[in-house]
Amino acid sequence: MSMATPQTAKLAAWLDAFSHALGTGNIAQAIALFGDQCFWRDQLAFTWDLQTLEGRESIQAMLGATLATVQPSAWTVTEAAQRDASEGLIAFDTALGRCEGYVRLAGDGRAQVLLTSLRELKGFEEPRGPRRVSGLESHSDVQAEQPYVLIIGGGHSGLGLAARLKMLGVPTVVIDRHARPGDNWRTRYASLHLHDPVWFDHMPYLPFPDHWPVFASKDQIGDWLESYARIMELDIASSAQCVSATYDEAAGAWQVRIAQAGRERMLRPKHVVLATGVSGEPNIPALPGASEFAGQQHHSAAHPGGEGFAGRKVVVLGANNSAHDICADLFEHGADVTMVQRSSTHVVRLQRVLEFLQPLYSEEASARGITTERADLLRAALPLRLMPAVVRPAIERVAHEDSAFYEQLAAAGFKNDFGADGTGIVGKAMRNGGGYYIDTGASALIANGSIRLKAGVDVSRLDRTGVVFSDGSRLEADCIVYATGFRPFSDTIAKLISPEVAHRVGRVWGYGAGLEGDPGPWEGELRNMWKPTPQPGLWIHGGNFQWSRRNSLLLALQLKARFEDLPVSVYRPR
Ligand SMILES: Cc1cc2nc3c(=O)[nH]c(=O)nc-3n(C[C@H](O)[C@H](O)[C@H](O)COP(=O)(O)OP(=O)(O)OC[C@H]3O[C@@H](n4cnc5c(N)ncnc54)[C@H](O)[C@@H]3O)c2cc1C
Repeated sequence: MSMATPQTAKLAAWLDAFSHALGTGNIAQAIALFGDQCFWRDQLAFTWDLQTLEGRESIQAMLGATLATVQPSAWTVTEAAQRDASEGLIAFDTALGRCEGYVRLAGDGRAQVLLTSLRELKGFEEPRGPRRVSGLESHSDVQAEQPYVLIIGGGHSGLGLAARLKMLGVPTVVIDRHARPGDNWRTRYASLHLHDPVWFDHMPYLPFPDHWPVFASKDQIGDWLESYARIMELDIASSAQCVSATYDEAAGAWQVRIAQAGRERMLRPKHVVLATGVSGEPNIPALPGASEFAGQQHHSAAHPGGEGFAGRKVVVLGANNSAHDICADLFEHGADVTMVQRSSTHVVRLQRVLEFLQPLYSEEASARGITTERADLLRAALPLRLMPAVVRPAIERVAHEDSAFYEQLAAAGFKNDFGADGTGIVGKAMRNGGGYYIDTGASALIANGSIRLKAGVDVSRLDRTGVVFSDGSRLEADCIVYATGFRPFSDTIAKLISPEVAHRVGRVWGYGAGLEGDPGPWEGELRNMWKPTPQPGLWIHGGNFQWSRRNSLLLALQLKARFEDLPVSVYRPR
């Protein structure tokens, strides 16, 4: 029974009715509490999966299959949203765990959105706060001979997940091909800063210090990751490569051959998490004449920075984030730089990104008591089907208010778009993981001609000293930078494990929008991310800091439940 205050009364009444229906096993009654257009996004609480059920019929089927074992109870409104008491945060228990969530009621008092999310497993709570250990007993951090979980990739995603698993007592090893944690950032070009603000980027357990700049530099992030690994006492094998990985169906375990310091060893984890960066391997187009080109050529991921390029002619192929950053940096170092834009890009001013995030991730949000965890939960409460209706008006407003900015870009020949569904950076990030630029200054350099632009053309071939374009024009070049993005993640799986496993897993990322780069069918969740994949024992983790932070909790809980042999049954809709 919910404790109702005047503000939460409406929500509490709904939740009480829902709780009563579920408690008495009356699924029909529970379904009647959902409106005609309704969404139940479940994160492990009922389905042991990340799923969004759309419509009463699919909710009914899910409850029919899960209710008896989940045994939800103790539903309560924890906090009504201040602006409108028909939405708010909730908490409840299941047989196995403590959960949190969110409800939004439509005008008729029935639910439009329900989010249910597992927060911790009963009996396996993290030893934090009141549960912290005394520390005086001998500190025996004995590493298991064989890890239960092997995480390949120690970027922020791999390290954050390892920290969560450490807290949950799941034996875990992280391997990374770099020599030191953080090198994946240190080795990038010098001008790289995060494009998301600091409030959005905290890692689990250890928030960044509050004097950190809004946009941290790549070296700050590199050093942070190294310190994080040490403070969280993570077991990391550096300068280590995965040579091969095969799954032994009978044993339900992997055999992973690791090469480190000229030696090989075999690990036999039950679970392998790929946290190698969901962008995959660098994509370098095979251009005719590339082997004849006498100058320098490299992918953006290997770009050393602008030093040493003064007076040199550099052609940057591509027009997304990395291309813009690299062009601006080269220009500032005195290079003669040309950006080649084949197809349109979505550009959004940095200030607008800050405005989008401001209600949940900002100094003001913190002052209003919105913790990072609460912000992440509220962010998870928007079903992807409703995302365009919420996001599109904001993007339209930006297009209108920043029209002078976009006109200047257009006058320079730059091709801008706002995404196939008008959801700009939000939709593009989830469908393609790219296709946009958050403007930190390069757009003005394009508009005023400091960065030359060649738009709407493709490269036909390279010759000894330059680039020949599809319109017959030609540019002299001393260096070509391929800011041409990354290969699909299935290429990474095929390379690390096998083409068969890559095929079995299928596409990674995207939600089945049925738009360019993200074909249907509709999934309503990011494909294969942080949830069971079709390959037993294989998990994929990654994304920006916010995605990784939030979803590392969900992934860690799934692994912990399996480690403890809890009765995990993943619900599959028919
Ligand atoms: C200009 C620019 C600005 C950006 N701004 C932001 C931002 O503000 N916020 C944000 O969240 N993101 C930002 N990003 C994106 C950021 O790069 C990714 O979000 C982030 O790197 C993903 O982290 P990850 O841990 O998943 O993968 P990565 O950081 O790519 O880490 C993967 C790790 O896996 C290791 N690895 C890969 N393959 C193997 C293998 N076979 N064996 C062993 N180790 C392996 C690598 O060495 C690496 O350390 C930005 C990117 C660019 C280019």
